[in-house]
Amino acid sequence: DPILRLAGITKGYNHGLPNEVTVLRGIDLSVAAGEVVALVAPSGAGKSTLLHIAGLLDTPDAGTVEIAGRDLSRARDRTRTQVRRADVGFIYQFHHLLPEFTATENIVLPQLANGTPRAAAETRARDLLESVGVGPRAGHRPAALSGGEQQRVAFCRALANQPRLLLADEPTGNLDPATSDTVFDALMALVRGTGLSAVIATHNLDLAARMDRQIRLDQGHLTSP
Ligand code: ADP
Ligand code: ADP
Repeated sequence: DPILRLAGITKGYNHGLPNEVTVLRGIDLSVAAGEVVALVAPSGAGKSTLLHIAGLLDTPDAGTVEIAGRDLSRARDRTRTQVRRADVGFIYQFHHLLPEFTATENIVLPQLANGTPRAAAETRARDLLESVGVGPRAGHRPAALSGGEQQRVAFCRALANQPRLLLADEPTGNLDPATSDTVFDALMALVRGTGLSAVIATHNLDLAARMDRQIRLDQGHLTSP
């Protein structure tokens, strides 16, 4: 089974009203184990909508969402939340770290919520931070970190519970070009090192070219360039 399978996904906003916008028009997408897919689309094309549906944060108007062979389109909210917590990691353009907690604690907390004992969670947080070069900053709060360091911590948090699927929405879009390149290298090393599947939305065609496959979202349809 693919890790992610979307079939016939349709989504509009303002349902039934005269100004309805149909953002996604029958999207089919399969992402295999270990595959890293670049999602390229102009702003407003529906990337966030697609990633939120794939990550069970939003529901489509029609179509099915399968994660690791399990159809979750019509599952209960509780089931969807459980699968999301255990199997899906999210990364956004902005880090969304909790400001009052250290880098380590930001990576420990989602593990505690998922049932991991504290000692094991702390060890994993330390290992993850070292692997992206933020080990020496592990005890700092987000405000004391650079933009690139903040994003690296957010990557570690997304991987904290060893998800099967990573969904990233412009993960380096907030950084200057030089920082963006090295931080993207760190992300790819993390992803390749764990063999997890990913869909990474980016405007940056150089970054997109480094992934396994590119897909484009245009007028509600997916195309390959
Ligand atoms: P992208 O991430 O590619 O910039 P989005 O998925 O955020 O695109 O948005 C796609 C379109 O859907 C835009 O026209 C946006 O205004 C609209 N949209 C997104 N979310 C909502 C919402 N909650 N209510 C109404 N319209 C929305
Ligand atoms: P919790 O209930 O423990 O806060 P959730 O299961 O709601 O966590 O969320 C799991 C993942 O989805 C987290 O990585 C979180 O950042 C992300 N997430 C949750 N809600 C939203 C949302 N409304 N928009 C974007 N990401 C979200």
